[in-house]
Amino acid sequence: MNLLPLPAFSDNYIWLLHDGKQALVVDPGDASPVQAALQAHGLQLQAILVTHHHADHVGGVDQLRQATGATVYGPVYEKLPEPVLRVDGTVRMTLLGLDWQVLEVPGHTAGHIAWYCPDAAGAPVLFCGDTLFSGGCGRLFEGTPEQMHTSLQCLAALPHNTRVACAHEYTLSNLKFACAVEPNNAALLQYRAQCEMLRQQQRPTLPSTLARELAINPFLRCHVTQVARSAQSFAPATDPQQPASVFAALREWKNVF
Ligand code: ZN
Ligand code: FE
Repeated sequence: MNLLPLPAFSDNYIWLLHDGKQALVVDPGDASPVQAALQAHGLQLQAILVTHHHADHVGGVDQLRQATGATVYGPVYEKLPEPVLRVDGTVRMTLLGLDWQVLEVPGHTAGHIAWYCPDAAGAPVLFCGDTLFSGGCGRLFEGTPEQMHTSLQCLAALPHNTRVACAHEYTLSNLKFACAVEPNNAALLQYRAQCEMLRQQQRPTLPSTLARELAINPFLRCHVTQVARSAQSFAPATDPQQPASVFAALREWKNVF
């Protein structure tokens, strides 16, 4: 199984998973990079997975569906280019001969879902859309901090070797913020240097792994004393004993950082 990030627009990745013959894509905001990759590798597109309704994630769906006949799967509660096979958190399905689970992760949008494949030959893979980024998380356009915190906790409970396939290359700016929150986190400083080198070479910093995110992503570290302290210094009303309160303060701080 091959996992490829296809760059789109200024900082999106459209993820392509394929076995050399059949492929699926996640969140094709633009059809052309996907069509170019299908042609280059001689692949047939079997499925289009969608995480949420934003244009930079669904803009290429109609064109790809028409060109390939692929089936589109997407969240129940979002307005999407029809026809879409709607899925919620109860769904288990087989695609490319692999098992898939749908995780409901509201916060960035009200109906946002993530796609999780526990056995993608190698390590599990998570397509988390705009919920979890490397070193950060999505903005709260349609959800509350409590909802987003719960959604991130749900992702944080997956196996540590899970490959985290985020939909944007926001890593460096996220890590700048993360370093302001945890200036003495050695794993974070080391990872930031590594990502700076990758970006200088115009290479993706993704996929990340859940183990790494748990070590460096402040939004997954709301229970850590230093993170709670920093959040409290930004928003004095923060309750350092309540991870959801710490999360809310971090998210607001990041919005103005
Ligand atoms: Zn979005
Ligand atoms: Fe997006």
